[in-house]
Amino acid sequence: MSVNNSHTDAGTAEEPDYDAVIIGAGFSGLYQLHRLRDELGLSVRILEKADDVGGTWYWNRYPGARCDSESHIYCYSFNDDLLEEWEWSERYPEQPEVLEYLRFAADRLDLRRDIEFGTEVTAAAFDEDAGRWEIDTDDGSRVSSQFLVTAVGCLSEPYVPDFEGIDSFEGESYHTGRWPHEPVSFEGKRVAVIGTGATGIQIIPEIVETDVEGLTVFQRTPNYAVPARNRPLGDEDWTEIQANYDEILAEAHDSGFGFPFRVRRETAADLSMEEVEEYLEPRWKEGGFRFLVAFEDLTVNPDTNEKVSQFLRGKIREAIDDPEVAEKPVPTDHYYATKRPPLHTDYYDTYNKDHVSLVDVTETPVERITPEGIRTTDASHDFDTIVYATGFDAMTGTLLQIDIQGTDGLTLEEKWADGPQTYLGLSAHGFPNMFTITGPQSPSVLSNMPVSIEHHVKWVSDAIEYLVDNDIRLIEPTKEAEVAWTAHNREVAGGTLYTTVDSWYMNENIPGKPTVFTPYPGGVDAYHDIILEVAEKDYEGFELTESLGDLGRTGTRPNLSVMESD
Ligand code: FAD
Ligand code: NAP
Repeated sequence: MSVNNSHTDAGTAEEPDYDAVIIGAGFSGLYQLHRLRDELGLSVRILEKADDVGGTWYWNRYPGARCDSESHIYCYSFNDDLLEEWEWSERYPEQPEVLEYLRFAADRLDLRRDIEFGTEVTAAAFDEDAGRWEIDTDDGSRVSSQFLVTAVGCLSEPYVPDFEGIDSFEGESYHTGRWPHEPVSFEGKRVAVIGTGATGIQIIPEIVETDVEGLTVFQRTPNYAVPARNRPLGDEDWTEIQANYDEILAEAHDSGFGFPFRVRRETAADLSMEEVEEYLEPRWKEGGFRFLVAFEDLTVNPDTNEKVSQFLRGKIREAIDDPEVAEKPVPTDHYYATKRPPLHTDYYDTYNKDHVSLVDVTETPVERITPEGIRTTDASHDFDTIVYATGFDAMTGTLLQIDIQGTDGLTLEEKWADGPQTYLGLSAHGFPNMFTITGPQSPSVLSNMPVSIEHHVKWVSDAIEYLVDNDIRLIEPTKEAEVAWTAHNREVAGGTLYTTVDSWYMNENIPGKPTVFTPYPGGVDAYHDIILEVAEKDYEGFELTESLGDLGRTGTRPNLSVMESD
């Protein structure tokens, strides 16, 4: 493999500027740079639109932004020095601490020298004659690379609903995913928060704790939130974690959700509601995502799920004093965990405060944003500040912001017009030498993401190493492999309760997006076995091309037994 890392000198007809270009400097991109540069010796460049590393944790600076994954497993596991040197201060780290951690990792691994900050990738086109990617950025530059790794994030493109009159508002408005770097004051202000997903549920109790004059929450769908039960981590905690870190991480990497939590019972179907309550009470007191693994069949068995949902509905009603108000945040239209289940700290208690009110926009929809505030079908509400906690164009949104063009002039947007089609959530037919970290149709957001990120980065690095070692120029999944993987995804999703509700997992939060379940719901462990088996079988399902003169020559023939055995 050639090594040519001069960005200013344009690549020659034969040699691209870089062996690999990575888009994004979050958890994924940083590790990908380290693997390709420091372990394979390739010339690599990250292009990142922010002015620092961090990704999610750079952008989401809203008050209360905190991880829902427990800190000691929301980190890289590949480097002992990083594991030993970093001690998290709380059970769940707050945004500044995760950002600091990623800065620390970038500095320890000396990654910054190969990152171009403040550079947004606007387009990428595969040059079929030269067998390389041509990548355009917002400053008008173009770089070329043999491999393109997109590490742009599943939850990276903020979504603001297209409310009529949105630009007419005369107060301040913020989207949580683009929160300013300067502190925002709520003192003496009348504040609206639109949205009660994981983000809304975190920011609402924080705003209430300020000297805000009044807070109005606009809720469309209530959510089942389980208490986080955050607490500081002390020396004793760390001694125990460090003593067992290898086993903890190994267990997380070989589990269904990327967490080191053992599933406790198979089902609730054979239990009475009283037995379920008795069993769940200590899990609820323990808090956090451990609650999710109480029953193995939670997301596939309506009977189990209804019992767990009923338990949580009871907890919400108990937390709110006024029985009429208490009914509003109680979800009755979907099963628990079929929308991404948030954790909370004092969220429900918020509704016991006199200066907080809750507007159910399914009863009184938002008609428009006015210069003074928000008009619903029954009232005009005046505000100084509107906070949009309205989520993201998830899974495919950030990738499709880039004009990505593969072979025969096909764009990714055209290819995915009816929903993502990928092979293994890592690659797409028609887009040779392009890999996506935590792409659609991989476990990604259904997991503790650093685990899924590490699985992908390692797999992509091993694949590139294999190509280099075997003098292979191009790798591209076959159409058949992609069709089979897409069908497999739909079949697995169809057997779950996830598809019974509108959610961002289903693309339903963005008007006009095709309704399709986007992450792979078969489990991190099962998925990891599949991708490793593909690699072991010399990249079964991929076409490998040795030289550009051989374009179209099949190196390995697709044999889709790996999916059939599932
Ligand atoms: P990101 O962190 O999203 O990084 C992508 C990077 O790509 C960004 O820096 C972005 O600026 C850059 N980029 C995108 N497009 C372009 C472009 N065109 N040109 C240049 N640069 C570009 N996951 C968990 O597992 N547990 C949690 O508790 C958890 N909490 C979360 C809390 C919040 C508020 C959010 C929004 C997400 C949370 N997640 C959580 C998911 C989180 O996104 C992942 O855990 C992880 O941070 C993703 O890392 P990434 O590098 O793949 O993507
Ligand atoms: P989200 O889950 O998509 O929630 C957006 C909220 O805005 C929902 O309540 C949604 O209602 C509402 N909304 C959207 N459009 C609306 C409209 N036109 N009118 C009224 N309400 C509208 O987004 P998020 O809360 O930012 O979370 C996104 C994901 O990021 C999470 O699911 C999670 O994966 C991650 N995250 C994680 C953490 C954490 O781990 N600590 C924290 C925050 C975010 P509907 O439900 O009816 O669509």
